[in-house]
Amino acid sequence: MTIQTLGSHSTRQIQKAQRREQKAQRRERRDLAEAILKEGAAQAAQAAAQLAAALAVEHAHLTDDELKDWRRDMEERLQKIHQRPEQNLGFIEEEVARGCREPLRLLTERAAQAKANATPTQCPKHHTPLERTRMLARSIDSRFGRLKIYRPYGWCPECDIWHFPADLVLGLNKNSPASPYLQEVTALLNTKMPSEQAVEVASRFGLELSRCHIHREAQRQGLKAQEVRKTQLAQLDSWERIQELAAQSDGPATGPFTLVIQIDAWNIRERDDWGRTLEARQEALRQNKEAPSKWHWVFVATVFRLDHRGTTAAGRPIISQRRYACTRLSIEDLMRQLYRQAIDCRLGQAQDVLVIADGALWIWNAVKDRFSNARCRLDLYHADEHLWTIAHELYGKDTPEARQWVEPLLKALHRDNTAGLIQSLTDIAAEVQGKLGKKVQEQITYFKNNQNRIHYRDVLAARKALKKGTATDQQKIKANEPLGSGAIESTCRQYQCRFKRTGQFWSMEGDEALMCLETFWRNNRWHDLFPHAKPPTLANN
Ligand SMILES: [Zn+2]
Repeated sequence: MTIQTLGSHSTRQIQKAQRREQKAQRRERRDLAEAILKEGAAQAAQAAAQLAAALAVEHAHLTDDELKDWRRDMEERLQKIHQRPEQNLGFIEEEVARGCREPLRLLTERAAQAKANATPTQCPKHHTPLERTRMLARSIDSRFGRLKIYRPYGWCPECDIWHFPADLVLGLNKNSPASPYLQEVTALLNTKMPSEQAVEVASRFGLELSRCHIHREAQRQGLKAQEVRKTQLAQLDSWERIQELAAQSDGPATGPFTLVIQIDAWNIRERDDWGRTLEARQEALRQNKEAPSKWHWVFVATVFRLDHRGTTAAGRPIISQRRYACTRLSIEDLMRQLYRQAIDCRLGQAQDVLVIADGALWIWNAVKDRFSNARCRLDLYHADEHLWTIAHELYGKDTPEARQWVEPLLKALHRDNTAGLIQSLTDIAAEVQGKLGKKVQEQITYFKNNQNRIHYRDVLAARKALKKGTATDQQKIKANEPLGSGAIESTCRQYQCRFKRTGQFWSMEGDEALMCLETFWRNNRWHDLFPHAKPPTLANN
């Protein structure tokens, strides 16, 4: 009985305790739900307040409190440096830059927001009001850090797509957080150095760019550059448009001048299995026992006015203004680009056109197509080298006999006596046999192929007269004509500095995009791609 009483007593107690616990759990759940709802409401209220504040921005400004905080913060930073005698001006520069970052970020964010707010919510194409308009926040990486901007978007029934008109006005791309300044800087850095280096350099300038970001953004900008180039080249498709272009570039009339063109090529290593993983590439390498890569030609040309060519105090030739063309697509593409640049260099006003190149046949064929009236000149130094090659074969490298043999031939070449030169070589060829005979024969063919492009005598005579102080005005101009294609050779080397590093492979899309960017930069046309970037005042030679 006692046991039973005890038992029923304890059962009641247990039940009571269970009820208490259930009640407590219910209360806890209710409190939690309330807290969540409250927090949600607070968040929603905060978001609504942020949105309302953003939409109210009409112009960028900092509040008095923000300005006061900034001032105090700056003074504290500089005070700390003042107490450290070992810290130089560099520390002051760093600290001031750090201290300015947040106020500048705020100002930029507000100015961008004001621009977004002022943008009409209409279709950029049809200029009709957008339907079902809503607001959406977007994060943007800018020169001063991350910005958050609210902008309206809406549906255009005619286009059948959603439009974000403010993004267009702000110059933002669809799938990239980069601001126009960061778009430009990534493109510029990546044309000058590999991505991993660019990340480090950018970080020293206070820009946080991940390697992947730099690479992708530069690629995107390169494709954009190719589009702009395509539009500019399309202007060559009609005679009227070429006339328009010429009128734009002609400007005030200048004295007669010669337009100089130099053309060359170099090769680039491209990977044909671009996009595969490292393992897949290595496996392919094991199976094929060779690198899945190919060498491709990159065609380069430069054009400048002879009266823009002078010499430095040290006597080194210098060209104050010049234009470039560069592509790995085809010779035809190169010549189109070159022709466009030549028009910008006042091709229409030029007295004559002088083309200088080495003996490559494709160059002369392409020149005949595009610049049929041009004077063509075989690079004198290449021609000299060809004669020296035979001299070394016949008499040994750098021997007095080799020099003795080659000198009259060089003289004949420099006096434009091509017939005499070829005759001398033919006489030699008759005396030697076998491999050597074949080599001499090759040089005869080389000079025969180029005999119409051997014009050095007048220039050399003019230079001599200039040195003696007896040059006529005509000779002074003549003496300035280049005999070699050094200008294009140095251009090739400069491009190669970026594109031909050890172990570097390119994809066709990758190299053409970056080369296109680099060429816009060299031609002082960077602002065609990035209107906010003012044209540099000095030539980028
Ligand atoms: Zn539309």
